[in-house]
Amino acid sequence: MHNDAHRNFWTTTLGERPRSRPHLAANIQADVAIVGAGFTGLWTAYYLKCLAPDLEVTVLEAERVGHGASGRNGGWVVGNLAGLERHIGGLSREERRTCCGVVADNVDEIGRVLAHEGIVADFNKGGAIYAAARYRDQIAIQRDYLQHLHELGHSEADCHWLDADQLAEMARFRNGHGGIYHRQVATVNPARLVNGLAERVERLGVTIHEQSRAETLAHNKVNTREGSVESPMIVCATEGYADRFHDFKRHVIPVQSLVIATEPLSDALWQEIGMVGRPAFADASRLINYGHRSADGRIVFGARGSYRFGARSKADQAIGDDAIRMRRDLLVDLLPALEGVRIEHGWGGSLGLSRNFRPHAILDRRNGLATAGGYAGEGVAASHLFGRTLADMILERDTELARMPWAFADASHRQLIKRWEVEPLRWLAAQAITFSYAGEEALMRRGKPAPLLKPALQRMNDCFASVIE
Ligand SMILES: Cc1cc2nc3c(=O)[nH]c(=O)nc-3n(C[C@H](O)[C@H](O)[C@H](O)COP(=O)(O)OP(=O)(O)OC[C@H]3O[C@@H](n4cnc5c(N)ncnc54)[C@H](O)[C@@H]3O)c2cc1C
Repeated sequence: MHNDAHRNFWTTTLGERPRSRPHLAANIQADVAIVGAGFTGLWTAYYLKCLAPDLEVTVLEAERVGHGASGRNGGWVVGNLAGLERHIGGLSREERRTCCGVVADNVDEIGRVLAHEGIVADFNKGGAIYAAARYRDQIAIQRDYLQHLHELGHSEADCHWLDADQLAEMARFRNGHGGIYHRQVATVNPARLVNGLAERVERLGVTIHEQSRAETLAHNKVNTREGSVESPMIVCATEGYADRFHDFKRHVIPVQSLVIATEPLSDALWQEIGMVGRPAFADASRLINYGHRSADGRIVFGARGSYRFGARSKADQAIGDDAIRMRRDLLVDLLPALEGVRIEHGWGGSLGLSRNFRPHAILDRRNGLATAGGYAGEGVAASHLFGRTLADMILERDTELARMPWAFADASHRQLIKRWEVEPLRWLAAQAITFSYAGEEALMRRGKPAPLLKPALQRMNDCFASVIE
């Protein structure tokens, strides 16, 4: 393994180390105070300043810009929302189509804004092999899922089926039986995006304080160790890093996600693998295996999240050799041509999961608090959509976005946002879910019927699905 093996690949692409920003060392006032300088906080700041240039916006970041998931994720920009069906399932077909259209168009909108603002983040819209079936049992599951996407409101043009030959033309997976292609997916270099965005919002007049951890929040005031910001509107944009901050930590809990990056691959190897146009790719595993081709010709590959007892988030990025090796083996199993390729990087971080698996943008004017998150691993695009939505809500703009079913003003969110169970229940449930998914997959891999185990695992999965509802 390379000596950079425990380092986030994206940060190595930044060239010079991004300049640091002064910490908050005074008691100040702002029209809007934002806690967290990841995508959610920065996109909210960006749209607030675009719409209301005179607004005083201050961002407080506990560490450095992009310290959280935004600076270390897998780089997929997805035209879907995890948990979308829970928001729009009860709407009419026409309304569902509108919501899916907004979510799908969000990907193009991000590309447009980056081009307009001159933010170079390797944005590439190559679509995605969204879920490649690798075991025969997965074909029917994925075909049902595709039908579900269409019933939900995603168009045929955006999501369609690839048979085994069409799939093989796109990527040479081991056992590629077919899969879903999703046109509305792009990829980015997230560290370049979050740092470029921070510089852009500063040019618009936003103040960012780094090394300024918000310690308490009360009566329209955020307190840090050496200062405070008094503001009628405080946005909590801490997603999977809310750890010690405010009550939000019981609503959105951190889940660990780990990623590796190969060395740059030779042209000959790329010809063997395919992926012309740099589509993102994922197989149909419920345990999650996904990746894409980076701008410099590596494969960035993420797999297998996990939950830490006590909902601790992953502040450090380093991961162990075993964790890297396990992901390398999964990658080579999917793309056998990669046998012998060096893994140069491996790192991890935390994403946010809400109790009912619904991402949300919330504004409660009675206490002057707003938040967005719970993106469940699909937050790169969602944070743009939700940051934009929060800006509309804060400025009381009656827009299509502010009326979307994931936007909650005032008390309406109280029934929606549930608290997670206490430990050890959360941890036990996470272990049981992982066990049932792994068991199901092991059976599929063997391709043998398991008369007792298979229905038992299915019942277990159905049971988890109903608890989530
Ligand atoms: C390894 C990994 C891979 C992922 N891959 C993908 C992917 O490919 N596609 C996708 O769509 N999503 C992916 N995600 C999820 C996505 O990255 C996140 O959902 C998204 O970046 C969340 O952005 P955010 O701004 O809400 O939160 P973050 O980016 O996590 O930012 C929160 C910030 O708040 C700061 N903070 C916390 N507490 C305080 C405090 N008290 N005071 C001040 N600041 C504080 C933190 O330091 C942090 O910088 C991945 C996540 C991880 C961890």
